[in-house]
Amino acid sequence: MVAVNSCCRGLIDMHVHLFNNASHRPANEWAFPLFVANGVTGVREMLSLPEQMPQIGHWNNAVQNGSLVAPRILAAGIRVNGDSEQALRQQVRDAKQSGADFIKVFSEVPSAQWRTIIDEASKQEIAVDGHVPAQVGWLETASAGQRTVEHLMQSYEACSSIEARVLASRRELGGEAAVALRDEQEREVLTRFDPAACRRAAKAVAATGQYQTPTLVLSHFESRSSKDFELDIRWPLLREDEQARWQRNLAPRTPDDASLAALRWKTSCSIVRTLNNAGMPILAGTDTPMPLVYPGYSMHDELELLVACGLSNAKALQAATINSAKVLRLDNTLGSVDIGKRADLLLLDSDPLRDIHHLRDIRAVVLDGKLLGREDLDKLILVNGANKKSGSK
Ligand SMILES: [Zn+2]
Repeated sequence: MVAVNSCCRGLIDMHVHLFNNASHRPANEWAFPLFVANGVTGVREMLSLPEQMPQIGHWNNAVQNGSLVAPRILAAGIRVNGDSEQALRQQVRDAKQSGADFIKVFSEVPSAQWRTIIDEASKQEIAVDGHVPAQVGWLETASAGQRTVEHLMQSYEACSSIEARVLASRRELGGEAAVALRDEQEREVLTRFDPAACRRAAKAVAATGQYQTPTLVLSHFESRSSKDFELDIRWPLLREDEQARWQRNLAPRTPDDASLAALRWKTSCSIVRTLNNAGMPILAGTDTPMPLVYPGYSMHDELELLVACGLSNAKALQAATINSAKVLRLDNTLGSVDIGKRADLLLLDSDPLRDIHHLRDIRAVVLDGKLLGREDLDKLILVNGANKKSGSK
């Protein structure tokens, strides 16, 4: 008999994409077993359509009755982008009606429209999560009540000495053009990183209660060469259409792209360190299945990167468990180990508080009260690889 040395709450990935709405490909059900095999028992889905809400309910019911092995979808968000104020307000109401948990905002939303969305969402009592539009300051979103910010967006600007100037230049433009200008300005913004400005911004945002999902895996992977990605032993676990997408997106980069990516990673890590020091609550999220970001596995990458960028092991674990439960207002049923809470647990061979890498040594997962031992978890991964092969012929 093997002694289990440590027990941990099930992990929650706060930034995943289960649907492929832009490319009209089937949903990423292939990812479900990979999440569970890696201890991810809950996810926040970041871009759904109103008509997909019943599908989410169907998956969650199937997990509960034991006919599907998948993480529970704890929250799902709907994108809102209309031209007129009336259309925007209607879309927010429709999203709420459909059962969505939040409105997802994107970078190209012009600042006036972003304000309309925030206003209507507050009337409808639905949260707003997502990007910070290119024309809007990070602190502005936090003061207005945007619940979470993803990918450290606009914190790069707020942590530079030129935020006021770059934001002013973008406000003269339309939403899409503002995003293009933001991308043009990126190198200068990163070069002008200002630690004192960053500390001030982090302190001000932390005081509002906004949460941050840094998705460090994205900037970390972008900063590294991805030449031999098809040799990764996990490559066969991806569905074939997903492999094709990664192949398209991982085309060779120019030296200029590579140096910008390296600078972005270094700055991202500094910002996370500053946020953490300011007491800002961090959420662990990965944006899987972005290229190189494997479902489930990437959660461990993210937690290790959070630790590398200054979080204690305990804080990193909280970012993947209790912080997520709190921001989603689910902390009465999950996010910690307690009587009456849902039994989503990891049993580990060794203590992740001593070394965060130990979180990968999973002996068993308890998914909503059902025990999956190491052999069951290995089978989940194998079945996934086999499915992919038979499906591709
Ligand atoms: Zn995303």
